[in-house]
Amino acid sequence: MSETRAAKPILIAGGGIGGLATALGLAQKGLDVLVLEKAPQLGEIGAGIQLGPNAFHAFDYLGVGEAARAMAVYVDKLRLMDALTAEEIMHIDLGEAFRARFKNPYAVVHRGDLHGVFLKACRAHPHIALRVDSEVAGYDQDDAGVSARLASGERVVGAALIGADGLWSNVRKELVADGPPRVSGHTTYRSVIPTDRMAEDLRWNAATLWAGPKCHLVHYPLSGWKVFNLVITCHNDAPEPVAGKPVSKDEVMRGFAHVHEKARQIIDLGLEWRLWVLCDREPVEKWVDGRVALLGDAAHPMLQYMAQGACMAMEDAVCLSHMVEAFPGDFERAFEAYRARRIHRTTRMQVQSRVMGEHVYHPAGAHAELRNAMLRAKTQEEWLDTLQWLYGSTGLDEKNFA
Ligand SMILES: Cc1cc2nc3c(=O)[nH]c(=O)nc-3n(C[C@H](O)[C@H](O)[C@H](O)COP(=O)(O)OP(=O)(O)OC[C@H]3O[C@@H](n4cnc5c(N)ncnc54)[C@H](O)[C@@H]3O)c2cc1C
Repeated sequence: MSETRAAKPILIAGGGIGGLATALGLAQKGLDVLVLEKAPQLGEIGAGIQLGPNAFHAFDYLGVGEAARAMAVYVDKLRLMDALTAEEIMHIDLGEAFRARFKNPYAVVHRGDLHGVFLKACRAHPHIALRVDSEVAGYDQDDAGVSARLASGERVVGAALIGADGLWSNVRKELVADGPPRVSGHTTYRSVIPTDRMAEDLRWNAATLWAGPKCHLVHYPLSGWKVFNLVITCHNDAPEPVAGKPVSKDEVMRGFAHVHEKARQIIDLGLEWRLWVLCDREPVEKWVDGRVALLGDAAHPMLQYMAQGACMAMEDAVCLSHMVEAFPGDFERAFEAYRARRIHRTTRMQVQSRVMGEHVYHPAGAHAELRNAMLRAKTQEEWLDTLQWLYGSTGLDEKNFA
């Protein structure tokens, strides 16, 4: 699309899943892109990530569908267990009816593998350049373009700037100026269990959630069934943000003394625990400032309880690329059109993620009994209807997309 090709590249701050997906989307429209990543190398830490059917729509739009499908484990259930009784509360079948309805599967992948798929495609694309050790500290702009100010003092000039620089985004700091993220008080501990150590009667091909008072556990098979990914969370009013700090098993166990022995045994199998104190932000309307736009966690960071943060970042990337193509050379209108198409869906996800934590993942007593009764009452067909807004959409807001 030569008419949309700008003389200067579009700059992307951040080479995470959102930044690389955006680079691919824009490059496929014939635009030159320069990704500026703060870290000394491009990569992802942490283990598993869940991908709804909407992620697969995005992979296909971005041209990496085949590679992404090849590395996924296709779970056949989302299963909710009561962490106090070790009984199943309900499950959602992810088999034929689910796939036929949403036109794609539900899967789990290793984050590093997913990031690697995007990185390989970016490296192979002639329109994409990648720079590491390049922290974007802020930006300036005029009618002709933007200038990203790097922490090193260097200035990098581009036609537009996408802030895909995550929860602590510097681009957002300048664009929205809404201070630091909100500390949720929820502490998440991550680990893996080699599959042969996992209790045989729990080696389910499912994304399993054990919900208990002020705590929950999630596990699923990963990396071709070599390991089970284990992510457990307790609402312990942790006051400070923390990311990836190594932690002893004794400390991890402290928040789970009250759950069923069977759930505690799973935690006991975890190796090399690390902890994160979760943060999110209030939804905001402002994601765009002229030639600058926010995307992914920089725009709408959410708790992980809908398992959709990365999926939303990929949908953003697809939508933004389409809008930049639809308004050639007019970034302000393109970014505003992107924002308008994405804001309701991502705001709903931010709000609903908190609601899930409070009403599904962590309630106790009568509140938990109500949860069990309400969730058990739904049929499989009703679950598919409930999920239609999320998995039945590509996130492009097709009705208005012209
Ligand atoms: C415990 C947990 C479980 C989760 N599970 C799921 C799940 O199952 N499914 C799902 O879809 N999502 C999940 N998420 C959410 C998902 O991880 C995030 O939403 C997603 O990684 C956001 O991608 P991003 O590219 O916007 O930001 P990030 O992944 O944070 O990437 C930002 C990138 O920008 C770089 N950077 C930062 N600042 C700058 C700067 N100033 N200049 C240049 N570069 C910079 C960073 O080094 C990084 O590479 C989970 C999150 C957590 C915490």
